[in-house]
Amino acid sequence: MSIFESETIHVERDNDGSVVLILDVPGRSVNVFNRQVLADLDAALDAVAESHAPLLVVRSGKKSGFVAGADLNEFLGIQDTASAEAISEAGQKLFDKLASLPMPSLAAISGPCLGGGLEFALACDYRLVFDRPNTQLGLPEVELGLLPGWGGTQRLPRVVGLERALRMILDRKRLNATEALRWGLADEVAKTESELRERFARWTVRAVAEGKRARDRLPLRTWRQRFLESNPVGRRVIFRIAERQLRRKVWDDMPAPFEALEAIRTGLAHGMVAGLTYERGAAGRLASSTACRNLISLFFQTEKARKLPEELRGAAPAEVQRVGVVGAGTMGAGIAQLAALKGGKVVVQEVNQAALEAGLERIQGLFRKAVERRLLSEPEAAQRLAAIQGTLSWEGFERVDVVVEAALEDLEAKHNVFRTLEERTSPTMVLATNTSSLPVEQIAHGLRHPERVAGLHFFNPVHKMPLVEVARTPTTSEATLATLTQWAINLGKTPVIVRDSPGFVVNRILMPYLNEAVILVSEGLAIEQVDRVMRRFGMPMGPLELLDQIGLDVAAHVAQSMQPVLAGRFETNTSFEKLRAAGLLGQKSKRGFYLYTGKKPKVNTQVQELLRDEQAVTSVLPGESRLVQGRERLVLLMVNEAALGLSENLASGAESIDLAMVLGTGWAPQRGGPLHYADNRGLADIVTTLTTLETRHGRRFAPCHELKRRAEANEPFTQPLPALV
Ligand code: NAD
Repeated sequence: MSIFESETIHVERDNDGSVVLILDVPGRSVNVFNRQVLADLDAALDAVAESHAPLLVVRSGKKSGFVAGADLNEFLGIQDTASAEAISEAGQKLFDKLASLPMPSLAAISGPCLGGGLEFALACDYRLVFDRPNTQLGLPEVELGLLPGWGGTQRLPRVVGLERALRMILDRKRLNATEALRWGLADEVAKTESELRERFARWTVRAVAEGKRARDRLPLRTWRQRFLESNPVGRRVIFRIAERQLRRKVWDDMPAPFEALEAIRTGLAHGMVAGLTYERGAAGRLASSTACRNLISLFFQTEKARKLPEELRGAAPAEVQRVGVVGAGTMGAGIAQLAALKGGKVVVQEVNQAALEAGLERIQGLFRKAVERRLLSEPEAAQRLAAIQGTLSWEGFERVDVVVEAALEDLEAKHNVFRTLEERTSPTMVLATNTSSLPVEQIAHGLRHPERVAGLHFFNPVHKMPLVEVARTPTTSEATLATLTQWAINLGKTPVIVRDSPGFVVNRILMPYLNEAVILVSEGLAIEQVDRVMRRFGMPMGPLELLDQIGLDVAAHVAQSMQPVLAGRFETNTSFEKLRAAGLLGQKSKRGFYLYTGKKPKVNTQVQELLRDEQAVTSVLPGESRLVQGRERLVLLMVNEAALGLSENLASGAESIDLAMVLGTGWAPQRGGPLHYADNRGLADIVTTLTTLETRHGRRFAPCHELKRRAEANEPFTQPLPALV
């Protein structure tokens, strides 16, 4: 019998007298909390409170899962402190209402239970979790520069304990069903449907018998919790360690984890009411922080990029079922594996038997890893692997829909491959190159059908890196572009459409940065300091660590190929040659800026000696200031190159350039990418600093025309987020 009915929630009375609240947001594949749901829930809880039922069961009406979180489209545009605080307060009150119902409540969870969804479940007394592959419980708000603002910072520690709550909130650890049970977040887990029915029946009886749960203190289940978390001294130690780790790990200008830590600390020291007050105050402050605005802008940009752009929708992208890959080295193997993983049939071409076997071995290794990561089962992996064939004679290429060439980075070699492809494939088939630094137009030069050629630049490692640059030449047709863009989306990647120009967007902006890092070392700055200062800025690794990963020979080769676009600003660095001559190629030779012979990489002191006299030390500033100035040099070169790239229409707008940098290199996400960073800092300041650097260090720092023009006109690169309130 129904006791409450609304657009998103209905509540019915079960045979045993308990009431069941079912959440089912219409028109959405997963449940999310939006204003409508919050209003419906408020009214539903009133009905539940008056029902005098012995138990409330909360569950989702969707097979896809419990609740994936708050509706980002609705809440994330809110960036003024007062509105954000008000929304936090409204959610806190609502979940408090749930927690204070006269009867005990039991949440039945399956699939994603994240963010506001988990805060909802935490306000229930008991949690029963169905163990499905997509079951995940977590509070990932810090990823967006926010904190759990509907009571999560207060309830989670009181359910799983302090240290575990810190791991979930600060390190964004998500739990599967088994982990949730082990950590006490779940009271029970069911692995099969019949187990679920049996345990559900048992727990509905047990919850009624045990009644409401006290939630005023930390659970002391483990000896460690009893020893450390039971007393204020032990808790102080935990907080101090957590804060020290945050200071070491977390990027500068990222306040969210610190605010979350403080909310938890306040709640445990002064009680839940004080904790909730701090939590909503912090929600307000964070929503208007620069980091949050940038992270949200990136979130929206990514969502947008994962749909075929409006202007290509009429171009009818061809369905890609059969794929040809030329070259089965690092990149070719990665691309072939991904295409097969997503259900495609793949044929891989190599130059000789040994290279082909090595390539197929590489692909097998990638599938093994995917099985280890539980992305698919062993039989599924075997089936997908069987969809990949190798050839030395181009057999099978006549039937593919798309070819991706990932052969040697050499213009002549690639040109020859494309000439062969023209002979071997039908004229409607799309041909793409994975080149890092060569002009696609030159690779396609002289072909009879250049309209079907484009760049499709994946990043290394292919299975991990989210970005693909889709490069259009002046002759690339819209149909070709649409096919490649849609295929990249189908492969799970985020495509950014770029103009054909050596290095496209990402390598073009990255190269001057890597080059400058080597110059800094040759001027006497310590290798580990240069890397550390950029990691603190927000990069996933320092520039010298990155160079070791790319390989110094490859980086030098790419830099050489990019001379046509970088000449004048980017002086070729003889240090690369010296390091290469000394066999210091990076990780592949176990020696580069670091030594990779032991368990952990160690700084290679030989590098500093090799490069010391490379360039006179141009700065007499004390160590710390030199480091700060070094960071300015590294960052502002990228800003300048990004501005120049924008004026050359390398991508459709500043947001696309920034998105490419963040997804392609992990560029400090909390700063939103180089052009958001420039806007936030102020263009006039950027131009002044670059001009000073130009006087001190040379013309590579000369601010480009676009930067100067915008600084003078006070015209930012990026659009402010639309206000959605
Ligand atoms: P790689 O040296 O690992 O592999 C190249 C493979 O191509 C080799 O197995 C080689 O035998 C094969 N090959 C060479 N000439 C061929 C031909 N004519 N026909 C068929 N196969 C041929 O190189 P990689 O790192 O995989 O790079 C491949 C391409 O991808 C290059 O253009 C490179 O610039 C680009 N790329 C590389 C990375 C990276 O980080 N490695 C990232 C993005 C793009």
